[in-house]
Amino acid sequence: MREAYLYEKLEGNRVRCLLCGHGCLIKDGSKGICGVRENHGGILTTLVYGKVIAMHVDPIEKKPLFHFLPGSRSYSIATVGCNFRCRFCQNSDISQMPSDHNRIMGDDISPVNIVKIAKESRSSTIAYTYTEPTIYYEFAVDTARLAVKEGLRNIFVSNGYMTDGCLTDIHPDLHGINIDLKAFSEKFYKDQCGAKLEPVLNSIKKARGLGIWVEVTTLLIPGLNDSDGELKDIAGFLAGVDPDIPWHISRFHPTYRLTDRSPTSPEDIHRAKDIGRSSGLKYVYTGNLPGDDGEKTFCHGCGELLIDRYGYSIRKFSITDGRCSKCNAEIPGVWK
Ligand code: SF4
Repeated sequence: MREAYLYEKLEGNRVRCLLCGHGCLIKDGSKGICGVRENHGGILTTLVYGKVIAMHVDPIEKKPLFHFLPGSRSYSIATVGCNFRCRFCQNSDISQMPSDHNRIMGDDISPVNIVKIAKESRSSTIAYTYTEPTIYYEFAVDTARLAVKEGLRNIFVSNGYMTDGCLTDIHPDLHGINIDLKAFSEKFYKDQCGAKLEPVLNSIKKARGLGIWVEVTTLLIPGLNDSDGELKDIAGFLAGVDPDIPWHISRFHPTYRLTDRSPTSPEDIHRAKDIGRSSGLKYVYTGNLPGDDGEKTFCHGCGELLIDRYGYSIRKFSITDGRCSKCNAEIPGVWK
């Protein structure tokens, strides 16, 4: 247990957490919505510093980040906890452990050792992922700062609910982020996630404005966020922020508390992809459809196949110095 970053002390030993859009007002002895930040006598503490519940070497394509060091390894870590309550969470056993089971678990490991192991694994990046990195911010940012000193880069896989203050604080040491834009309606965010839409839209704009490489993922859930109108709203918003932002449209499978509907059909994934392209986005990808053409990167200028992916493996790479090897168009991304 150690003192949290980014909070303010208030009268009567209360504190306000400034990490995420919930802005929890926490009285002495209570926790915030994420269940991993607790007020002890007017001091906000983090209960998950160094308590690592998952550690894996992943291909960066798994995050997914398709325009950020393709083919590289990403040392991926998580603690338990989340500030969302997504009914369709694919990692609910660890993300919802504090709220569903009132339990915090994890192996103690220091930022120094995370960076050491990441380097030994020949990873190029450390990914803060699986659960929501914002809620273990102190551990993430301490690790990220050390990682940069050791020549590694850092990426977040996030629901995008962090505050501007949080993004501004970490941004010199955060190089890439995949943000879930789960829908484009307040109703969806309230009913399905226990959150609001607006802070997520703000984080996408803010991260891009700070120069962090941004990709966005939408899990397409039948009957909940898959109408043409909603998909046009998502794609139009992203194209308005920056048409270079890659948009990943991922296939839903029933899980956790959302088991009353079928997996997304490939036809609907392709319909969403077409909407993304016709809305002006240069790079729209399909996810959870192994072998689909939507996994591949084609030059937005001439249509040349630049990165041939199958699942997480890369079979062809045809970008030279950030440019299409055929028409020389600049391909947005972080390539070296
Ligand atoms: S991180 Fe978010 S949910 Fe957790 S205490 Fe802070 S404001 Fe509340």
